[in-house]
Amino acid sequence: MAQNAVYYGSYSDARKIPSDNRAQIGFAGRSNVGKSTLLNVLAGQKKLARTSKTPGRTRLINFFLINDSFYFVDLPGYGYARASKAERQRWGRLVEGYFKQRRDLKGLILLLDCRREPNDDDLMMLDWLVVEKVPFVVALTKSDKLSKSSLIKKAREIESNYNLDVIPFSAQSGLGKKELWQWIETALIN
Ligand code: GDP
Repeated sequence: MAQNAVYYGSYSDARKIPSDNRAQIGFAGRSNVGKSTLLNVLAGQKKLARTSKTPGRTRLINFFLINDSFYFVDLPGYGYARASKAERQRWGRLVEGYFKQRRDLKGLILLLDCRREPNDDDLMMLDWLVVEKVPFVVALTKSDKLSKSSLIKKAREIESNYNLDVIPFSAQSGLGKKELWQWIETALIN
């Protein structure tokens, strides 16, 4: 669990990211998937990560130092509706640059909205994680928006279609918080 979480810095250039041997846990997903909200819940702080309503940090790689020992790495959300080609290219360079020097990346949480089908960007990210052998888990966000039975159906569908592990998550009810923390703690010691 996070006893202590502090904002550490934001980077628009992967070469400037800290390389101090602290372990890193990444968070990636489509813009508006609920990534900032999930980060705030895991950190136990309402305003640690800024939600998509506040511009600025959402297009950078944001580092948060957790328990003085490892980082949460908030990767910029992809696929926002009005992104220009230049913005998409900038996103690609930044994220690719980060992954190229991912020495300390111990695992990544890929966020998917429980009501939406994974799109091409999600699938690209998934493929990449598999090819590069980065340990990852899917957090199925906004799970409070589906009935319990629809949620179970959806989670099973994604698990079997894409052969991966899914943790349903809701910021509203706290569902999945404990399981995500367990996953993170295991990833950190591996
Ligand atoms: P980001 O762009 O991925 O950082 O997404 P945000 O964290 O800003 O969330 C986008 C929108 O989804 C906001 O309006 C949130 O209030 C809403 N949201 C996020 N998580 C949940 C959740 O677990 N349940 C519900 N019902 N809404 C959520």
